[in-house]
Amino acid sequence: MSDDVRVRFAPSPTGRLHIGGARTALFNWAYARRRGGRFVLRVEDTDRQRSTPEFEQAILDGLSWLGIDWDEGPIVGGDRGPYRQSERREAHLATAGKLAEAGWLYRCFCSPERLASLREEQIARKETAAYDGRCRELTAEECDGRVNAGEAPVLRFRVPAGETRFSDLIRGDVAFQNREVDDWVTVRADGSPTYNFVVVCDDAHMAITHVIRGEEHLTNTPKQVLLYRALELEVPEFAHLPLILGQDKKKLSKRTGDTALDDYKDKGFPPEAVLNFLSLQGWALDGETEVFSIDQLASHFDVVDVSKGGSIFDAEKLLWLAGQYLRDEDLDHLVERAGPFLVRAGYLAESELADRAEFVRAAVATVQERSRTYAEVAEQLAYLFVPDDAVEYSEKGEKNARKQGNDALSAYLPWLTDRLAQRASADELRDATKAWVAERGDKMPALFAPLRCALTGAPGGPDLFEVIALLGPERTLARVGAGLERLG
Ligand code: GLU
Repeated sequence: MSDDVRVRFAPSPTGRLHIGGARTALFNWAYARRRGGRFVLRVEDTDRQRSTPEFEQAILDGLSWLGIDWDEGPIVGGDRGPYRQSERREAHLATAGKLAEAGWLYRCFCSPERLASLREEQIARKETAAYDGRCRELTAEECDGRVNAGEAPVLRFRVPAGETRFSDLIRGDVAFQNREVDDWVTVRADGSPTYNFVVVCDDAHMAITHVIRGEEHLTNTPKQVLLYRALELEVPEFAHLPLILGQDKKKLSKRTGDTALDDYKDKGFPPEAVLNFLSLQGWALDGETEVFSIDQLASHFDVVDVSKGGSIFDAEKLLWLAGQYLRDEDLDHLVERAGPFLVRAGYLAESELADRAEFVRAAVATVQERSRTYAEVAEQLAYLFVPDDAVEYSEKGEKNARKQGNDALSAYLPWLTDRLAQRASADELRDATKAWVAERGDKMPALFAPLRCALTGAPGGPDLFEVIALLGPERTLARVGAGLERLG
């Protein structure tokens, strides 16, 4: 095998990109980067009914969102294309013809009804359901006669007796009894080749050296290995990644968490955090460091270090990681990413992101520390965008305020009016307010709890004097006035 590592990610554009698929793409990418190899993206769109250009685009967008680039594939091209499987139909059928000639494929005329009842009987007898080989020894003349009479055969692979072994970089030696592999269908009656067949044609054509994919494909591998051997091709290395499991230790499903990568994008997760999180699904940097970059992944990743066992999807951990990234984000960058969430929430018009850039920037800065996603940034700023007499008081915020009563707040209103008229800065106002409360002989919450409730409705949140600066004098005073009435 040549030293040049060539790996691939081969999604079927029949649905959105699953996070398991994104992890497969990431590990392939990382392996290529680590080994100085090439990462190929191949779109397996042979299921013409279920594949759509929209899903294909969504998958490419998802990878780009994560920051995963490919060296060959759609858009970027490459000299081992075409990279869309449907465009390689002729090559696939030529290979099938060659194999049929060599006797590896045979025509099978068994009807779907016969196959279904065969299967039922086998299951009833508690046997492995497998084709019984009825058409295996038909002569060429018999076959031609049936074809001329209008029957359309499938092409089955003539699986030899024995067992098929291969070594998996994660699992070690794997063996399958060929009896269980079954004389599988390579080309359907309508002339369309099947996944197991084309995947080998394409991996060989694209000179793939390492097939790194999800564990769900492990049982396909013996079929593919037999096919490589029949074609007298070098068998690539295989590595089957563990499934990503939900908290219930079952395959991750909608019930236990969002399974589509898009959902995380829509919910405002920083892509870097999602990427970091995906890296931890079956792999670890050093067993300690949990926050690391894609570059660190690329310089340390080896597929042999991936664990065999299923990894458990921990949504809390993902949120925690998201918070780590968001907190460290450059403010301008954060504003750029969080802005669309403010628009989506209906707080601002798109044009206001630019027109009120300074305000937006200052607002976002107040919640950076306590947000984990861009959606949370927007959520925490909701109070800024409601009418001053309709601030939504949270239960806790209101309870805290009522516990303190209105005395301090009503005395504070004229004082504050005066200070704001003098254009006191947030820092000046903070210091002066504290002195004012102390002078009254009050504890700080006597003023701060009702003031916070009146301004934001929440029990906690950003520094109140930054909130006042954001609201400006008029809105601040209107909210305090409304608060005195509503809390009175
Ligand atoms: N198109 C297949 C899938 O989406 C690819 C499997 C493979 O990597 O061989 O699962």
